[in-house]
Amino acid sequence: MAGEPQEDCLFCKIVAGQTPATIIRETDTTVAFRDINPQAPTHVLVIPKAHHKDAGALAAAAPEVAADVLREAQAVADQEQLESHRIVFNTGSGAGQTVWHAHAHVLGGRGLHWPPG
Ligand code: 5GP
Repeated sequence: MAGEPQEDCLFCKIVAGQTPATIIRETDTTVAFRDINPQAPTHVLVIPKAHHKDAGALAAAAPEVAADVLREAQAVADQEQLESHRIVFNTGSGAGQTVWHAHAHVLGGRGLHWPPG
């Protein structure tokens, strides 16, 4: 069912405390933790606690939680004192999505080129 924890989902396990992560922020609906393979000096993932496979599915099923994720992504940028930053939702394997639990990447702390690769 949409939103229910999935046994085989890495990010559901982080939410449940079954897999360790460096958590830097948490709300009733979201968790923010450092990416294990950072692509910038600051690279934090903001996820909904509920399981949705990607950002579009999250927005369709729980738009208020999608807004929470965006609000928390900005809060991470503020907390990390980023002068500028990028918020990315990779959606689909062709776009680089590898974990099928919606997540926003918050990247900053270096110059970020456009267009991305
Ligand atoms: P995606 O490629 O799906 O957009 O992003 C998934 C992200 O999760 C990647 O940047 C990857 O480095 C990160 N990641 C994968 N496994 C782990 C883990 O066990 N812990 C943490 N903190 N990040 C992870």
